[in-house]
Amino acid sequence: MSEKVLLSSRELPRQWYNILPDLPKPLPPVIHPVTKQPVSPEDLLPIFPEPLIEQEVSPHRWIDIPEEVLDIYALWRPTPLQRAKRLEQFLGTPAQIWFKNESLSPPGSHKPNTAVAQAYYNKISGVKRLTTETGAGQWGSALAFATCLFGLKCTVYMVKVSYQQKPYRRVLMETWGAEVFPSPTDRTNAGRQVLAEDPDSPGSLGIAISEAVEDAVNHEDTKYSLGSVLNHVLLHQTVIGLEAKKQFEQLGIYPDVLIGCVGGGSNFAGFTFPFIADKLAGDKPNLRVIAVEPKAAPSLTEGVYTYDFGDTAGMTPLLKMHTLGHTFVPPRIHAGGLRYHGMAPLVSLLYDAGIIEAVAYPQLTVFEAALIFARTEGIVPAPETAHAIRAVIDEALRCKETGEAKIIAFNFSGHGYFDLQAYDEYLQGRLEDAVFDPSQLKRALEKLPFQEQ
Ligand SMILES: *Cc1c(COP(=O)(O)O)cnc(C)c1O
Repeated sequence: MSEKVLLSSRELPRQWYNILPDLPKPLPPVIHPVTKQPVSPEDLLPIFPEPLIEQEVSPHRWIDIPEEVLDIYALWRPTPLQRAKRLEQFLGTPAQIWFKNESLSPPGSHKPNTAVAQAYYNKISGVKRLTTETGAGQWGSALAFATCLFGLKCTVYMVKVSYQQKPYRRVLMETWGAEVFPSPTDRTNAGRQVLAEDPDSPGSLGIAISEAVEDAVNHEDTKYSLGSVLNHVLLHQTVIGLEAKKQFEQLGIYPDVLIGCVGGGSNFAGFTFPFIADKLAGDKPNLRVIAVEPKAAPSLTEGVYTYDFGDTAGMTPLLKMHTLGHTFVPPRIHAGGLRYHGMAPLVSLLYDAGIIEAVAYPQLTVFEAALIFARTEGIVPAPETAHAIRAVIDEALRCKETGEAKIIAFNFSGHGYFDLQAYDEYLQGRLEDAVFDPSQLKRALEKLPFQEQ
């Protein structure tokens, strides 16, 4: 019998967990690119509302989730913790495999956990419209959903190639009332500049970020919203791990290995930080936590830990993080949500301190894992999520060799029902491994903004 742990609405966590006060060493400050001094809250006010700027540096371990946010979370939360029994049987492993199913939200991923919170704090700060960028459309659709429920307007700059190639995520955003523009547009200076040089520019996430930020800065009632990387985003995602902890408590077991895929690091952090708290407190010294990244954008396993821009254009403040260099352009892979040059500063610090591990996989082996999961458990995973599944399968197969009955848990960050074109390519044997060019990485690392002492 397949097992599943469900929590009632009353058991929905009422506070998020902030890992900042529990870190093994203090998080390096965000630096202003010109003055090279730590940024002040005032520097960020044109872009983010005050409550989110406060959360970014909050010293408090627990932060109340507002009633209005809980009310919307309750549309799909708490999410089930499910046992992948059929996958275990297929692999013939003595290990137990559990997953937290974040694919059940209306947009189909973990992303609305922060989109809803961000929309709320902007709403109470008097903001009328949010801007953002989106690549494949996961983040854009999460923000479109959240702003729709709070009665805010939403403008999404969608990378032009994706806009043309992935129309269904755009339709989803428009269904929730967002306006979606193929970026580069002629609505911003950043976009017009790119179009002047190349009218047929396919766009990039970097250009789309520049457009969304410029739009927000130039309009009094408008702010910008980011879907990963920053501390407040990771904070909001901890609702995942806090639920999972309760669910494991009800089962009377504690996981040995936690696994999540990492793009900017938010679903991984949200799932694992509440457990990492036990490791940092010395209660679970042997807990293993593994971040899984694509070989095409291996910021943890092949990047350096230093200050870098968050965006490709070099407009944002500098974050101390694991990075491949902001000018590094990862090869095109179907897991668009993992195609990022950097990593959340919080995840980077924990990796640097040896608290978490990381592995990188090329995409063919990832799709092989996706198919195994779809054909045993039924759910079709997002290509991003399939990275975590690959690592889970490998860990479970190691347990088969050693005979260890480990408890492996992973975050099922989203479903792949909008990614069927990628599955089609894989099934038809047209998919290739996309591994980056080491000389490009070398060049990108030479262009880092400044090296610290
Ligand atoms: C966006 C996305 C990711 C990667 O983003 P993180 O911030 O690293 O979580 C992973 N899985 C899915 C399904 C996504 O949509």
